[in-house]
Amino acid sequence: MIGLIFVGLIVAVWVVTNRRKKRERENKKKKQQGPGRSPETAEIIYDLKKIEVFVRRQRCHCNGRVYARAEAPVPGYSNMRVAVCECIRCEEVHRFYFEINYLN
Ligand SMILES: [Zn+2]
Repeated sequence: MIGLIFVGLIVAVWVVTNRRKKRERENKKKKQQGPGRSPETAEIIYDLKKIEVFVRRQRCHCNGRVYARAEAPVPGYSNMRVAVCECIRCEEVHRFYFEINYLN
């Protein structure tokens, strides 16, 4: 009887862990497809200061805040910049792309 309860407990823990991992994977995938995550989905901005504003609003798939470590032009794109960011919780690196359209 105790053996059966033990096996049931192990199965329950396994099911819960698998569900959590699946949710994390889906969350990560969804976040990687969001605006600014690739040159094709670059966030259009009119002012370089908006990069910081955009980065501050972003969250990692673990729900941690991200901060910009560096910012650089994107090779092959004349008006694009990439902000290389890191999650303060899990230290995962994220890249956000910005297309800069100056108004003047
Ligand atoms: Zn994270």
